[in-house]
Amino acid sequence: MSEAQAESFGHLGLPERLAEHVSALGYEAPTPIQAAAVPAMLGGADLLCQAATGTGKTAAFALPMIAAIAEGDLRGDTPVGLVLAPTRELCVQVSEAVHRYGRPFGIRTLPVYGGQPIGRQIFALKRGADIVVATPGRLLDLVRHNAVHLDAVRTLVLDEADRMLDIGFLPDLQRILSYLPKQRQ
Ligand code: AMP
Repeated sequence: MSEAQAESFGHLGLPERLAEHVSALGYEAPTPIQAAAVPAMLGGADLLCQAATGTGKTAAFALPMIAAIAEGDLRGDTPVGLVLAPTRELCVQVSEAVHRYGRPFGIRTLPVYGGQPIGRQIFALKRGADIVVATPGRLLDLVRHNAVHLDAVRTLVLDEADRMLDIGFLPDLQRILSYLPKQRQ
């Protein structure tokens, strides 16, 4: 992508309404990670991205996920997008950002993490979620409780994957992957 093309969200291939919404949030131009990742992710590629904290990586993965839900006929009873994050703080932060970006489309985003009563999360999942943002251990607990089904997930994001591996989440991640469809991004 040329620099001129990357200068506006409208040129990244996002639905017009989503690009307009992002501009209305005050984002004048995509950051470099957004300019690189959004078109590739919209094209269906599997990506490994590295960008420093505060460079806009949440929107880089959230906007294509929202675009897929907004444009497609993906919404159902179970989540189509799954974001895994190492900590409760990151879960909440990502979930709030996804909610903000997806607001015009009514995207239902739900954070689930350890340290909060699981019953409340089970109840919230029953009401339906399009994108779940989870810590790995709590997500597996919820799968065991039959509270969440991952067989409709189209896109999986491992946010701060390096940190999750450092913490020792690899076995949990492998188990979660085994519950996802083979065809997924
Ligand atoms: P993140 O790296 O995703 O945590 O984002 C860091 C901060 O940058 C957040 O406050 C975002 O709201 C903001 N942000 C993300 N993308 C852009 C953008 N294209 N233009 C301006 N601010 C942005």
